[in-house]
Amino acid sequence: MDLISVDDLSDPLLEELLRRAGHWATHEPDAATRHLTGRQVVTAFFEHSTRTLMSFEIAARRLGGSVTRLPVEMSSVAKGETLRDTALTLDAMAPDAFVIRHPEPGAAREVAGWMATPVINAGDGAGEHPSQGLLDVATIRRHVGHIEGLVVAICGDIRHSRVANSTAKLLTRLGAEVRLAGPARLMPEGHDGPDGIDEAIGGADVVMMLRVQRERLSEDLGDAPGEYLARYGLTGERLSLAKPDAKVMHPGPMNRGVEIEDAVADGERSLIRAQVAMGVATRMAILEMVTGEARAR
Ligand code: ASP
Repeated sequence: MDLISVDDLSDPLLEELLRRAGHWATHEPDAATRHLTGRQVVTAFFEHSTRTLMSFEIAARRLGGSVTRLPVEMSSVAKGETLRDTALTLDAMAPDAFVIRHPEPGAAREVAGWMATPVINAGDGAGEHPSQGLLDVATIRRHVGHIEGLVVAICGDIRHSRVANSTAKLLTRLGAEVRLAGPARLMPEGHDGPDGIDEAIGGADVVMMLRVQRERLSEDLGDAPGEYLARYGLTGERLSLAKPDAKVMHPGPMNRGVEIEDAVADGERSLIRAQVAMGVATRMAILEMVTGEARAR
């Protein structure tokens, strides 16, 4: 099977993935559970990445699999080969899973239509980022204990964020109240939620900050140094509006001093590195699932 959108997951599959992610967060695979042994995972990232790329590759290896990365800049894409021909070429090499990141929303779905290989969407422009949504939910479950009834404020550049898309859908589906807030220019069209960051954060259990995706903005925001942080960023002062034990999250990469203050990012309420650790565990669960090796146990 493919994993293109969190909407592709039935309730039982979602539950099984979160359970398996929780399992791999606390267990090392052994000879009997290295379910990707003898399997080949191909990664092709047409946009930059540190966490997603590395954690998919580490996850595959931890489960005994082999990884081959398409060096996009050295590939025939640079000679003008189309995405379809690239996908068909890699498919003919019969890997067991294909992990793709691409700047065009919908690209991963198109690729999945061309390939027999199971395809995992590792981010398609401002579309979806299902593995991030899953790891965010798995992190909250592990460190807060439950999702239902939580108030989660997701703040910043919502308009360009595939993370906001996937994470908000999953949180809402699992019974959390999601509040989206950000500068008006960075909110999706037609959004009608709390107007301000302070209202969204007020009384929240979790505050998730998002990066300003300047690479997807046609012009600069025109903010003076420090202005974005003061108006929209997560400072210690703003965090004090949330519940006293509220957790702080950020999918990374962080613009320190822009959407988040250092002391908050590195503070004891921060789950940011826990998200990274859960990223590996979640991607192990995803790779097991798409390669057909997830078993009830
Ligand atoms: N790493 C996340 C993504 O690829 C968030 C970001 O880039 O700001 O969508």
